[in-house]
Amino acid sequence: MEDLLALYGGMGISPAVYNYGEAALKKLQARFAEIDKVAEYNQAKVISAMQKNRVSAACFAATTGYGYDDMGRDNLERVYADVFHTEAALVRPQITCGTHALTVALSANLLPGDELLSPVGLPYDTLQEVIGIRPSPCSLAEYGVTYRQVDLLEDGTFDYENIRKAINEKTKLITIQRSKGYATRPTFSVKQIGELIAFCKSVKPDVLVMVDNCYGEFVETIEPSDVGADMTVGSLIKNPGGGLAPIGGYIAGTRECIDRCGYRLSAPGLGQEVGANLGLMPALYQGFFLAPTVVAGAEKGAIFAANLYEPLGFRCVPNATESRHDIIQAVELGSEAGMIAFCKGIQAAAPVDSYAAPIPGDMPGYDSKVIMAAGAFVQGSSIELSADGPIRPPYAVYFQGGLTWCHAKLGILMSLQKMVDAGLVNI
Ligand SMILES: *Cc1c(COP(=O)(O)O)cnc(C)c1O
Repeated sequence: MEDLLALYGGMGISPAVYNYGEAALKKLQARFAEIDKVAEYNQAKVISAMQKNRVSAACFAATTGYGYDDMGRDNLERVYADVFHTEAALVRPQITCGTHALTVALSANLLPGDELLSPVGLPYDTLQEVIGIRPSPCSLAEYGVTYRQVDLLEDGTFDYENIRKAINEKTKLITIQRSKGYATRPTFSVKQIGELIAFCKSVKPDVLVMVDNCYGEFVETIEPSDVGADMTVGSLIKNPGGGLAPIGGYIAGTRECIDRCGYRLSAPGLGQEVGANLGLMPALYQGFFLAPTVVAGAEKGAIFAANLYEPLGFRCVPNATESRHDIIQAVELGSEAGMIAFCKGIQAAAPVDSYAAPIPGDMPGYDSKVIMAAGAFVQGSSIELSADGPIRPPYAVYFQGGLTWCHAKLGILMSLQKMVDAGLVNI
């Protein structure tokens, strides 16, 4: 591929970095084939849900105002419910992001005097203010919802003994975060989540379980809703939006939980009946249609990154060979300079804003400075190629996304090139 090398060379990638990448790729063909199999299954799952619900051009019409009888919106929710095998789903552009979707699910189903339990350690940064772990106006704590947490054991597994002790008469809802988020613990498989749900329900049969499914959708052939979760929650500018959704979140779950979420999102009495789609239906349907293959490309990128960086001495979570349950790749770069060089490379490979240089800064919802690289069509979209991380030890960059495998590959090669250029690695 002389021409490709010349083109990459013009973009700043040296033959040494390119060839190092090709050598790593040779060993990944069997794993990539497995990922394609999962994508094929999930693609069929989405198409069959769309066929069953008779998706048609009429579903793509824009509605305004109250949005009464919005058939496109209502049908999209049925499509989501069928893919997640749930009784109902709430899928709305009025849900502004993943944190909002999780907040709706929690605040709709927890009342004053109830207790929330996280049996998997500290939740994702932005959830800490939602819960009130870090005090914030309008947190669940302010409304009299208490919180309890059981940390994972040293080896990253569930501390069943202390979980049993933590579940009490006040425990109303258990929140399980599938993805590691900004932590370096392992991401849980859907099977592991199912075992934890079964355990919690054996201790207290009527307890509700919510799973924060951010970054996990379509990585496996089953979802948390297939293993007993009452609510499965995520963001449309991550996996299920397929890169096309410009905004939104979803909650898939039992009729009872979703009804309450609808009332919380709009107003008691109104619920899911209101909420105009503002012309976003084509993007939400088509994005969901594309999501299984987009996720597959992103997962290949994550595996490629681990297989480039781990041999160079950087700890990768997950490591180069272990199985995957989300699309996030953490690479511990050991220094702020390493994080900046890596992020520079991701930014330089982007189709949008490639000329910008990412620098660490303060972010609402996070308690340390954060660096973010994203040259995205949708602002902040992390199903698009992006890298970010809080500037704190172990100086890990969380890398994710790539709407196409080819773009993910280019971004990772470019990140390595910037590390080489900065004198931080030798290849
Ligand atoms: C991204 C993420 C969230 C929050 O989603 P936003 O869209 O950024 O608000 C919550 N939990 C996890 C695990 C996430 O990865």
